Amino acid sequence: MKGEKKNKTIKTIRIDVDKCVGCMACEVICSAFHATPKYSSNNPARSRIRVIRDPIADIYVPVYAGEYAVAECAGRDKYTIDGKEYDECAFCRASCSSRDVFKEPDSGLPLKCDMCESDPPQEKPLCVQWCLNEALIYEEREEEIEEEEEKQDELEIGLESLANKYGLLKIMNIVARMSLSKKGQV
Ligand code: SF4
Ligand code: SF4
Repeated sequence: MKGEKKNKTIKTIRIDVDKCVGCMACEVICSAFHATPKYSSNNPARSRIRVIRDPIADIYVPVYAGEYAVAECAGRDKYTIDGKEYDECAFCRASCSSRDVFKEPDSGLPLKCDMCESDPPQEKPLCVQWCLNEALIYEEREEEIEEEEEKQDELEIGLESLANKYGLLKIMNIVARMSLSKKGQV
């Protein structure tokens, strides 16, 4: 019910950009953990963390995949670090319709960091465990929060993004066809 208080564990990964050396271990382990079957491949394009690299300037900035954005936003962020100007949206966490970042390369489905809570849930995020330079630091704290309405789950977000890409009617027709062919198999 809305308005009731409950305790929630807030999980945070603190990023110490100065300690990151761009080794990509975080990208490799994240993509391997989320591969199907698990650990069957390690394509960083499937990772939910990406490291923006500028080896000449010795700048490496890990960015985590955040929420899926249905439409590209009208505002733009532009970062300048040590005099180098980065592309618009370079550090944005969203899987957004206007670019091919944080999207599953085959299906185009949005990727989002799940803190390695998918099956089997990990005690500590794997990217943190694999970062030998301690650029990623895991922290937990308890907070009292208002009970929220149920959030969209991953399946709903994925279906929404497919419907945005291909149109709802097409997705419904495909699901109907699949359901008929499944019925024919039983
Ligand atoms: S594993 Fe750590 S040091 Fe290596 S790229 Fe990732 S955040 Fe940077
Ligand atoms: S916490 Fe887990 S899901 Fe998130 S980026 Fe790190 S390895 Fe990937």
